[in-house]
Amino acid sequence: MRILTGTCHCGNLNVSFETELDPAGMVPRACQCSFCRRHSTAAVSDPAGTLTFRAADPAQLNRYTFGLRSTEFLICRTCGVYVGAFMPDGDGAFANVMAGVLDARDEITQPPVPVHRSQENFEERQARRRIQWTPALLIQESR
Ligand SMILES: [Zn+2]
Repeated sequence: MRILTGTCHCGNLNVSFETELDPAGMVPRACQCSFCRRHSTAAVSDPAGTLTFRAADPAQLNRYTFGLRSTEFLICRTCGVYVGAFMPDGDGAFANVMAGVLDARDEITQPPVPVHRSQENFEERQARRRIQWTPALLIQESR
């Protein structure tokens, strides 16, 4: 397993992505929802990996939701960087990470593929993420 690390711009939000996938083989998904279009997102995930988000200052973590509210868009309030989408699911969670926040971003050379999800209902969206996204943790360091 390789650990791909990353941060938001100011360093408040840290990402640790354990995966056996080669970054050069990852095909980022460019979600076409109204939020992701505004950020030109390119998301990666690995169902066999693990994704850990850490907020050094949880007060500066914005867990933005909209629409079906099935996922939280993790955004740093200090620097404005969107690091990944996080879906709490029972005792666990699933998430993806934005390719651009990873230190290995330059190794992810495949062009993002546009994906359209607006036809999915809440249950379909959850089911897809359980298969496609990465088992994830969100750690809020101080409180
Ligand atoms: Zn930040």
